[in-house]
Amino acid sequence: MKIICIGRNYRDHAKELNNDIPTEPVIFLKPDTAVLKDGQDFYLPDLFQEVHHEVELLVRIDRHGKNIQSKFAHKYYTQIGLGIDFTARDKQSELKSKGLPWELAKAFDGSAFISSWHAKEDFGDLMNLEFSLTKNGAMAQKGTSADMLFSIDEMIAFVSQYFTLRTGDILFTGTPAGVSAVQKGDELEGFIQNQKLFTLRVK
Ligand code: ZN
Repeated sequence: MKIICIGRNYRDHAKELNNDIPTEPVIFLKPDTAVLKDGQDFYLPDLFQEVHHEVELLVRIDRHGKNIQSKFAHKYYTQIGLGIDFTARDKQSELKSKGLPWELAKAFDGSAFISSWHAKEDFGDLMNLEFSLTKNGAMAQKGTSADMLFSIDEMIAFVSQYFTLRTGDILFTGTPAGVSAVQKGDELEGFIQNQKLFTLRVK
């Protein structure tokens, strides 16, 4: 199983980190050891000074595919969820400034929090889904999939040219603006529309 993530898929988040708006998806991977399951706590690694939450809509691939056309991509997933792409922003900034890959900042153990899965029909139009993250009860990030620069189906078409998709693979589809550092003791809650999908404690 692999985790495929897209960076800078929301204009307002790309801008808050002073990144250009991409003309082609920015893609990185996380290994299966990065997975943090619903019900587990997130332990802040000692390696970093500044770990940010990035709440993202998730898609679970449930069919094997390669070179999938965008118009057929919807046949390759039936379930969606909500996750957090935990990012060591201090490490990522250091790596970015040297033009190096991001894995040390993005793929560490526990960096891919994954909620429970839900039938994609449960929430209505997938390309018009509101989702949000609160931190200690206060709104931290709020977005809608309508603002994605590359849609879920376009992302599947793009990445499947490079990586064969397999059942169980997971897509992290990018984060809207509002990322910020988490601290020990924080409580994060994630929502799609008005439905709470998770509560996650930072330790
Ligand atoms: Zn992200």
